[in-house]
Order: sequence, then C-alpha cells, then structure tokens
Amino acid sequence: MSDTIFHKIIRREIPADVVFEDDHVIAFRDIAPQAPVHVLFVPKVDIATLNDLQEDQAIVVGRLAHAAAQYAKREGFAEDGYRIVMNCNAHGGQTVFQIHLHLLAGAHLGRFGTAK
Ligand code: AMP
Repeated sequence: MSDTIFHKIIRREIPADVVFEDDHVIAFRDIAPQAPVHVLFVPKVDIATLNDLQEDQAIVVGRLAHAAAQYAKREGFAEDGYRIVMNCNAHGGQTVFQIHLHLLAGAHLGRFGTAK
C-alpha cells in the first residue's frame, strides 16, 4: 500500500473524524473544511490519480459516489443538495495522491472554481 496521509488514516496510524467505513471505502471530515459539511470519501485500493483508474476499476469511483449519496441521505441534506468534486493533478488542485471524492454541503455553494 502507498503511504499518503490518507493511507495512514486507512491504516488508523493517524487520527481522523471518520463518519463512514466499509470494506471498500473510508470517509472522514476534511481537516480544512470549505463548506459547513466537507467529507472526503477515499477508496481502500491504491489509485494515485483519476488518470490511473483502469476500466475494471470504474466501480471504485461508483462506490465513492454511492457512499457520498448514502451519507447525504443519512444526514438529511440530500434533498437540499450537495456537490461532489474530484481533483486531478496540479491544475485540478490535487494535493494528496490517493484518489478521493470531496462532498461539500450545508449551504448554497458558489459556481465552480475559476482559474487563478
Ligand atoms: P485534494 O486537494 O483534492 O488532494 O484534497 C486533499 C484534501 O485533504 C484537502 O481538502 C485537505 O484539507 C485534506 N486533508 C489533508 N490532510 C488531512 C487530514 N489529516 N485529515 C483530513 N483531511 C485532510
């Protein structure tokens, strides 16, 4: 297994505010939230960036999206709505090289990010 900060969280070597976990996915609150609700959904299989996702691994991203939607329903904000985001490499703003899905919710969010 790789050794990003998310792998350390998966292995429970460093603490995180875990809100969901099953055999395939772990979800925990982002340490620097960008919305009232900001949860990261991370697969337990090693995939550094979305560019590395193989066709037979497409279910990995599906599981992240499904887990995020289930969490939104469980927490009661699914109908109000939310945003999911995956950043890839430098221009996408990826800083942790294990794929992850951001779930942002709890307020009306602005439109998509703009170039700096
Ligand atoms: P990205 O920029 O898409 O790679 O997102 C990485 C996210 O991980 C950022 O939003 C960080 O705030 C978040 N993050 C980094 N370290 C931790 C940590 N130890 N616990 C929770 N979230 C973290």
